[in-house]
Amino acid sequence: MDFKDNIRVIPDFPQPGISFKDITTLLKDGEAYRRAIDELKALVAHLQIDVIAGPEARGFVVGAPLAYALGVGFVPIRKSGKLPYDTIEVGYDLEYGKDTLAVHTDAVKPGQNVLIADDLLATGGTIATSVSLVEQLGGKVVGAAFLIELSQLAGRNKLSGIEVHSLLTYE
Ligand code: IMP
Repeated sequence: MDFKDNIRVIPDFPQPGISFKDITTLLKDGEAYRRAIDELKALVAHLQIDVIAGPEARGFVVGAPLAYALGVGFVPIRKSGKLPYDTIEVGYDLEYGKDTLAVHTDAVKPGQNVLIADDLLATGGTIATSVSLVEQLGGKVVGAAFLIELSQLAGRNKLSGIEVHSLLTYE
């Protein structure tokens, strides 16, 4: 199945020059959404995964169903100030802007194998920050899974030593 048919590309969003890949058109199609998660599951099936971590917000719509399908837990990585318990935080640069991500201090146990999931890999800043949070908690990031990878932005270069899997690649 070519999932590109399910992705809507919006030019100049959220600012001029950005070609935004809109996954809402995939998510609202139940069959395509399920097949996308099933195919991601097959791509990571060989990994030993204890828990999946995903950054807010679109990382939840990929990571949580993937965690359910694999029968493992899900850890939300959120913007600063959203999580109710003790957190650690890391700041980072976005493809367009700056932000801070946070995770609960007890979200990952030392030695757990963690898969990080998000909708899209662009510059890799979001995922490198997520990796840093997980590693600060003593987790081992064994892989990263995405619906979409923007290959020109070379985000996977920021994830050396981590298996990167994506369903779709755009230049
Ligand atoms: P990165 O940190 O530069 O790799 O950007 C990835 C993050 O930005 C992900 O969490 C995405 O949800 C978001 N993002 C960047 N570009 C797009 C896009 O074209 N479509 C959807 N999300 C995007």
